[in-house]
Amino acid sequence: MTVSKNILESQIETKKGTLEKGAGFDLAIIGGGPAGLAAGIYAGRSELKTVLIEEAIFGGMVNSIFNLENYPGCPRGIKGIELIQRMSEQVKDLGLETIFAYVSRASLAGPKKLIFTQDGKTISARAVIIATGTKRRELGVPGEKEFLGRGISYCAICDGPLFAGKNIAVVGGGDAAIEEALYLSSFASSVTIVHRKNVLRAAKILEKAAFQNSKVHFLWDSEVKEFQGREKLEKIVIFNKKENKELSLNFDGAFIYIGSLPASHFIVEAINKDENGFLITDELMTTSIPGVFAAGDIRQKPLRQVVTAAADGAVAAISAYNYLRAA
Ligand code: NAP
Repeated sequence: MTVSKNILESQIETKKGTLEKGAGFDLAIIGGGPAGLAAGIYAGRSELKTVLIEEAIFGGMVNSIFNLENYPGCPRGIKGIELIQRMSEQVKDLGLETIFAYVSRASLAGPKKLIFTQDGKTISARAVIIATGTKRRELGVPGEKEFLGRGISYCAICDGPLFAGKNIAVVGGGDAAIEEALYLSSFASSVTIVHRKNVLRAAKILEKAAFQNSKVHFLWDSEVKEFQGREKLEKIVIFNKKENKELSLNFDGAFIYIGSLPASHFIVEAINKDENGFLITDELMTTSIPGVFAAGDIRQKPLRQVVTAAADGAVAAISAYNYLRAA
């Protein structure tokens, strides 16, 4: 709790910077997750006149990681929110301009890049780093929206304690699903992982921990068809593909972790993307638009981790610096 209070206080302080004072930036960084914050640190140290634009609070999805176990230098793990607080303090100390606003549109093709926010600001910069990450993927089945906040959640760290002693389902088979299932097992009476395949995508160390946890159970080859209940979630209708059978099982809660989609909707002009909408860059984080770089989960890349997002941000900032110096 102390940590979240501090992070909010530090963000309120940075809000005091005004756009007018900093109009016409060298560099605009869109997104305040680990990629954007790392880019901010490297841009600040390169003394670029930089603005960091974040929609809500720094950190994005990292804030919901209870214990990040694989970030180098943190042998016993670190709370996602604490790591973000440390990164944002570094950015703040470097004096970057920070704007909290939702970017609705960005026109990036010309030498003067224009970024439009929902609350009516226009920010101009000569180079841009897109570090907007991803948005959660939803199952899109009946009852998912209806029972959101009434049994269904996308955030174990936020809502997990509400399910003490309850029976919970976790949907998905990746790192997030297994990591959060393990976290939820410390509150819940049982956690059932509902996965559409019969193998997990998650890291072996997580898989092993889940297999060894007596509270964690698996429903393999299983697809969620519907969430049902009266006032709150009571049952999940699940189709078992192997047995070609539909089941209706009682659950008090369901946490959905089925991956994410790139948040690149605001880019007006054509920019190279893969078939899933992730931005294609080279190893210098250069996109197909001159002066526009991408960093973190928004990129097409083989490994989406906090450490690779931060590394991308550092490379993107130095590439932006070199681009501006040559321009
Ligand atoms: P992910 O790796 O893309 O896994 C998504 C899981 O959801 C997969 O098992 C997938 O099934 C399943 N899925 C996707 N669409 C589905 C649908 N419509 N219905 C049912 N199941 C569906 O996503 P993630 O676990 O959120 O992780 C995202 C990235 O963040 C990954 O790169 C991951 O390594 C990283 N991450 C890292 C950590 C960490 O290192 N501490 C923690 C969390 C996340 P299939 O397997 O059948 O495709």
